[in-house]
Amino acid sequence: MYGPVLGIALAVGAVGQAWSAPVGDRHAVEASLALAEKAIALRSVAGPGNQTPQVAQLFRDALIAGGFAASDIAITPVGDTAYLIARWPGSDPSLKPLVISGHMDVVEAKAGDWTHDPFKAVIQKGFLLGRGATDMKLDDAIAIEALIGLKRAGYRPRRDVIIEFSGDEETAMATGAIIADKLSGAELVLNVDGANGVIDEKTGKPDYFAWEGGEKTYADYQMVVTNPGGHSSEPSPLNAIDEMAADLLRIQHYRFRPEINDLSRGYFLGAAQWESASIGAAMRAFAAEPTNEGAIETLSADPSFVGRIGTTCVVTEINGGHALNALPQRVTADINCRIFPGHPRAEILNELRQAAADPALTITDVTEGSVETPASPMREDVVRAIEHAVHGAYPGVAVFPSLGSGASDSMWFRSHGVPSYAVSPLFIKNSDSFMHGLNERTPVSSVGPALDIVAVLVTDLSR
Ligand SMILES: [Zn+2]
Repeated sequence: MYGPVLGIALAVGAVGQAWSAPVGDRHAVEASLALAEKAIALRSVAGPGNQTPQVAQLFRDALIAGGFAASDIAITPVGDTAYLIARWPGSDPSLKPLVISGHMDVVEAKAGDWTHDPFKAVIQKGFLLGRGATDMKLDDAIAIEALIGLKRAGYRPRRDVIIEFSGDEETAMATGAIIADKLSGAELVLNVDGANGVIDEKTGKPDYFAWEGGEKTYADYQMVVTNPGGHSSEPSPLNAIDEMAADLLRIQHYRFRPEINDLSRGYFLGAAQWESASIGAAMRAFAAEPTNEGAIETLSADPSFVGRIGTTCVVTEINGGHALNALPQRVTADINCRIFPGHPRAEILNELRQAAADPALTITDVTEGSVETPASPMREDVVRAIEHAVHGAYPGVAVFPSLGSGASDSMWFRSHGVPSYAVSPLFIKNSDSFMHGLNERTPVSSVGPALDIVAVLVTDLSR
């Protein structure tokens, strides 16, 4: 059963010239689901047997069948994976390209834990089920079919439209870095990974669409305490495990300065109405005055909001000692931080060092596969296009910005100064969202509107 199938009037060609080009029609919905099902059946998980290169072949074939020139599509193998870049040439070569970004790899899924085989997609009770149904093979398929639909409708972009898929976003993120290097001259990126629309738990109607214009910087620091050690029958006053425990408690109690930016202010003001009365009031108070202590206290106490008001750091692993009857000689602890945009990793390392206040402690930055990035600007053309696209599919639905918890492929583009915006066009209930988890699923009724959302975003930003 398919949901509302919409035909949206797309402005095509010269400004002011428009005709009705339904993209999210029944045919495109079926094509998107069929493509997503084939992609889900390919086990594109990092490691032995990784089928990401086959997903790239599948997407390449779909693009060619939809009118892309084979010479405009390149698949590049990297280790056990691959990435794909396809170009739809625009009419004005002087304009910088618009990039649509996604990834083909998925998080591992253990079949025994699922209600059905995660690598055999099924449609059940109105949901597409399978690993990648939400993150993000259905989004990939929708982006491909929306471009094909536009091509078929006769649309010709002024700037190049480039669609690219990375092959290890869930693990090493190496292909995303390579792609962003190659496309560093792009005008902007629409990342269809993450930041989807939200369906109301009670009414089943769409509530809001929160897009992301920035994300927190992922960072890992390792703390080490060493000690000469000795026999456990002769304890010395300074024990490496005790010392690390004390350091960790000081870090636990350290509070990074609460912060706000345009994106998070927009989020607090836009999303407050869907939260409980106390959280909603705290969100509005924090947006008005980010030093409001009552608001900070309320938001800090809630795990889903503490990360939205500043940098957070938390210990995630600890290792120490080497024998039951010996004094510990070495203790290591790993601290994972999500840094508010605008702070270098070295600055946070210094804050941690000061918070621990232990001259015997060494802290080093051991972050891999992450780069610190500023938030992208709230560009008027992008904000207008997102509102236009979402309101075309879901009239009256609230649209506001947000700050992602990181790290997505967007960070590689932002590190090159290319603005990137997360805009997954699918709408889903929070209680149905099982990204990276069990029984991942996405409502089929949201595919038609999602095709139209992508089509409007692409036409508004490429003509
Ligand atoms: Zn993803």
